[in-house]
Amino acid sequence: MIKLQMYVNGQWVDAKSGKTREIVNPANGEVIALAAEGDVEDAREAISAARDAFESGVWSEIPAAQRAACLFAIADKLEQNAEEIARLETLDNGKPLRETAADVADAAACFRYYAGMVTKPDGQTYHVADPMQALVVREPVGVCGLIVPWNYPLLMAVWKIAPALAAGNTIVFKPSEVTPVTAGKLFEIIEEAGVPKGVANMVMGAGLTVGNELAESHEVDMISFTGGTVTGRSIMKAAAGNIKKISLELGGKSPNIVFADADFETAVDYALFAIFANQGQVCSAGSRLLLEESIHDRFVERLVERAGKIRVGPGLEPSTEMGPLVSEAHMEKVLRYIELGKQEGARLVCGGRRITANGLEKGYFVEPTIFVDTTPEMRVVQEEIFGPVLVVQKFKDEAEAVRLANDTAYGLAGGVFTNDGAKALRVIKKLRAGITWINTYHPTYNEAPWGGYKQSGIGRNLGTFGFDEFTEVKQININLQVEPIGWFEG
Ligand code: NAD
Repeated sequence: MIKLQMYVNGQWVDAKSGKTREIVNPANGEVIALAAEGDVEDAREAISAARDAFESGVWSEIPAAQRAACLFAIADKLEQNAEEIARLETLDNGKPLRETAADVADAAACFRYYAGMVTKPDGQTYHVADPMQALVVREPVGVCGLIVPWNYPLLMAVWKIAPALAAGNTIVFKPSEVTPVTAGKLFEIIEEAGVPKGVANMVMGAGLTVGNELAESHEVDMISFTGGTVTGRSIMKAAAGNIKKISLELGGKSPNIVFADADFETAVDYALFAIFANQGQVCSAGSRLLLEESIHDRFVERLVERAGKIRVGPGLEPSTEMGPLVSEAHMEKVLRYIELGKQEGARLVCGGRRITANGLEKGYFVEPTIFVDTTPEMRVVQEEIFGPVLVVQKFKDEAEAVRLANDTAYGLAGGVFTNDGAKALRVIKKLRAGITWINTYHPTYNEAPWGGYKQSGIGRNLGTFGFDEFTEVKQININLQVEPIGWFEG
């Protein structure tokens, strides 16, 4: 049994209340870890440690190269422990090993990317009307509260921790209460890499206690959140007290549009990947497949044939292509949506049930599921299900494809498959979404900004845009002619 403690002011600690939470392996329902269950008091102590560390300058004022060296060391240690971390992530989250291995590699690359950025040129200089040298510098925001979900526990943590630390901030990080295991490992590595005490803190616990305290506290200068849109709204309200900076990466219901002239097998392949990778628990999942009328039936037939062959099983088994959903509660939610889809009149052509055969009965496995004959107003078309459930929509022409694609409250991602380059770009430019793909789906790069339009969020993670969010901008005007101004005569 793994015992997980919190990391506050350079110490590994239990919750002040002594409470713990059982962490469950979603492949078989077994308890794999006991995690300290922090509360408001624990969050306050961590915030105070981060505040003191920030004010002391122990991190923000050291040479940038020294901060970079720490981040490079974290990347190295992630790689040295990659196999163990991937295994822990699979045990905790359920996703197959090939996915968690990729997550660890991406996490190390993200630390390297931001380590490199720290020592690169930044800021601006201006030519102004007076004999002045005007310049702009970037400074850390201060104490950052970082809150992440359970679908990519390690990677979502790193997307925030790496740029926040690179920019010189101090942090209080809260993992999802469902999947805190790899956060424990990451903070061991952060400690070993020599990040000074108080700079990086980790508090586990519920959203309504620890998470809300981070969002509300006037000692926190910025909140960077990834999770559901409903939670994002509540964080925005809580953050209003001291007008803290906010960055929100929220949900999606992203369209994957396939035109009749697309490469058929490539489009089928990506349509499967778009929705069933990570069991569909991906914010940017292609959860709505928009098919041009003339290829609809043939495409669905091929999709169903291939979806039925996806090997579902425990993530630790090397042959597994799709694992269990993250928890029993989440599986129940997904199954309720499948029932809703049937009630709304969508036609189920693939899957639709929990899998209980072949030793999977204790896990939270759901069949790859596909609905056709949907209409735009159905809740299964409008709402994020966050599971292996694809809804297919049909369109007649380019204009209808764009209209349907944009017809939800979300605007996170979208893809287009066609061999007509001009049409691809026309459609992409009309998509109200922050992350888009042409003839591919899902690739993500540390170099490129990640985030959504509309109710999918505010701000961006990753890239230079993601780094800038963890900074304040200061203008400095230096007088080059130091003499009295003589504004007042007397
Ligand atoms: P969630 O919103 O329930 O929880 C996310 C985190 O917020 C957890 O750590 C939780 O404890 C915390 N939290 C919950 N209520 C809170 C509150 N009132 N105040 C402060 N913190 C609170 O989301 P989830 O179920 O863990 O994750 C799934 C959601 O995350 C999906 O909607 C998905 O689209 C979204 N997501 C978005 C992105 C993105 O980049 N846009 C990436 C991954 C996941």
